[in-house]
Amino acid sequence: MNNLEVVRTRIAKAALSVGRRPGAIRLVAAGKGVTAERLKEAISFGVDIIGENRVQEAICKIDKLGKMVETGTGLPPQISWHFIGKLQRNKVRDAAGRFDLIHSLDSRPLAEEINKWAEKRGLIQKVLLEVNVGEEETKGGIMPERALGLIKEASLYKHISVRGLMTVPPVSSDPEGSRIFFRKLSELAKEITKEGIDRILMEELSMGMSDDFEVAVEEGATMVRIGRAIFGPRRG
Ligand SMILES: *Cc1c(COP(=O)(O)O)cnc(C)c1O
Repeated sequence: MNNLEVVRTRIAKAALSVGRRPGAIRLVAAGKGVTAERLKEAISFGVDIIGENRVQEAICKIDKLGKMVETGTGLPPQISWHFIGKLQRNKVRDAAGRFDLIHSLDSRPLAEEINKWAEKRGLIQKVLLEVNVGEEETKGGIMPERALGLIKEASLYKHISVRGLMTVPPVSSDPEGSRIFFRKLSELAKEITKEGIDRILMEELSMGMSDDFEVAVEEGATMVRIGRAIFGPRRG
């Protein structure tokens, strides 16, 4: 897990370069395609947030890692599971309450469904609003001009707590290509904060992946979601 050390050092350097505290940035290890055994290894090296893209794959790993704990293989108990992929409405039933944070709220029907299941389970689901800052047709996330409207709607759902914004910028061959999109997300969060909407917090900016996380940290990310730089290239 030398990779993990390298990533942590790079995050810290990027933070310090803009006068931020390295501790203000949390590492979300992106676990898609990574086995429970390898996640367990990463956890033993201090990973404490795992971000998954598919609900079933995540549930499988949560169960497996839970069993490893029960059989005394010594996992620290406070692993936080985040959902970072596209969330289908018919999967919300399985997702609500299982993930500490859902990074990908991007529509009112999805908000309604999350609220419904969170209410049934008697909990408040923390979410981030995913914003399609690159305004790409094929991508998930709400268009920037509709973000404020969705936030206002989400603020009315008592079993949802909006904590901030998330984005996946357009693919770029150069990390610097992501900077304007990260900056846009950060500016959007500031605009939403100014609105002073009841129950809405803009404390998290989830942005930056293996190829551009340092730029994201420079632009104010509080969570970076990193897969390949920790676990190596994905197959398939
Ligand atoms: C896969 C994935 C990541 C991590 O991507 P890497 O390039 O492997 O670091 C981050 N965010 C989302 C939404 C992802 O699907």
